[in-house]
Amino acid sequence: AKSRGKDQIVVFDEAMAGSAEQRMDDEIALARAITEEQLTLHYQPIIGLDTGRPVSAEALVRWHRPGHGMQAPDRFIPMAEDSGLIIDLGRWVLHQACRDAAAWPDRAPAMADATVSVNVSARQLTHPRFLADLQSALAESGLPPERLILEITETALISAPEAAMETLHAVRACGVQLALDDFGTGYSSLSYVQKLPASILKIDKSFVDPISGPGAGTALSEVVIKLAEAIGMRTVAEGVESPEQATALRLLGCHRGQGYTWSRPVPNAELQDAAMRLAG
Ligand code: C2E
Ligand code: CA
Ligand code: CA
Ligand code: CA
Repeated sequence: AKSRGKDQIVVFDEAMAGSAEQRMDDEIALARAITEEQLTLHYQPIIGLDTGRPVSAEALVRWHRPGHGMQAPDRFIPMAEDSGLIIDLGRWVLHQACRDAAAWPDRAPAMADATVSVNVSARQLTHPRFLADLQSALAESGLPPERLILEITETALISAPEAAMETLHAVRACGVQLALDDFGTGYSSLSYVQKLPASILKIDKSFVDPISGPGAGTALSEVVIKLAEAIGMRTVAEGVESPEQATALRLLGCHRGQGYTWSRPVPNAELQDAAMRLAG
């Protein structure tokens, strides 16, 4: 029994070493991806529910990892956050999204007036150089600040409330808009949400999923939309997968929608076609 115990410990150690080594390899590969242009941004149109036309697009990062195919962000953003690589990755995303959106009036005229939404992690937001990075992304691209929206999650605000709040006010002072992402999945109190300088509230997909049509499964999303209305925030519903959900949300007074019922995230080069199809 003793020797078996010892074997088990050895096996356990090797497994641990293997995973630590794997992790190191993944981090080195991701660090390289940032400098070697293996990252790319896809854009998912956000639709004005009153007109049915695209009014914005969310930038979503993808990693073409050599030998592994295309990696979804859920597989590498958490690693980037843990390792600190999110600072460089996030800076690249912000610059690239501003460059892409600044060129829409020429290259994707259907998106000429559209805003671009960029996800910002907690660690990125509270980094001392964040505001300088934001200003240089705007200055280098020439994107008007009013066309940029930063999406932040409630967790970003809970981890460092004071520092984050100061940064958010400085972001607003630049003319950039703020959206509270994944609303309803975190723990922030209503009084806290009300104090945020954010003008947009993104209703998490988990609130949209139960909706099967007008009046059907709408109880929770209705509460969130009423809440947003009461504190003067515009609403964007995420993960809208059917026309019935879109109709139900519009009838509830939700302003915008995003989801597969309109478009999946597409490469920047395909955004014009996607937007034309939606506007048509
Ligand atoms: P998110 O910010 O909540 O982005 C929405 C996610 O929902 C995207 O997944 C999008 O492709 C997916 N989605 C959109 N419509 C539908 C739908 O109708 N049905 C379903 N089932 N899914 C839909 P994606 O692109 O895999 O991104 C996952 C998450 O990774 C994002 O969630 C965001 O938290 C994070 N992420 C993506 N890009 C970045 C980035 O540049 N920086 C940071 N910090 N995080 C990012
Ligand atoms: Ca988002
Ligand atoms: Ca979201
Ligand atoms: Ca979400």
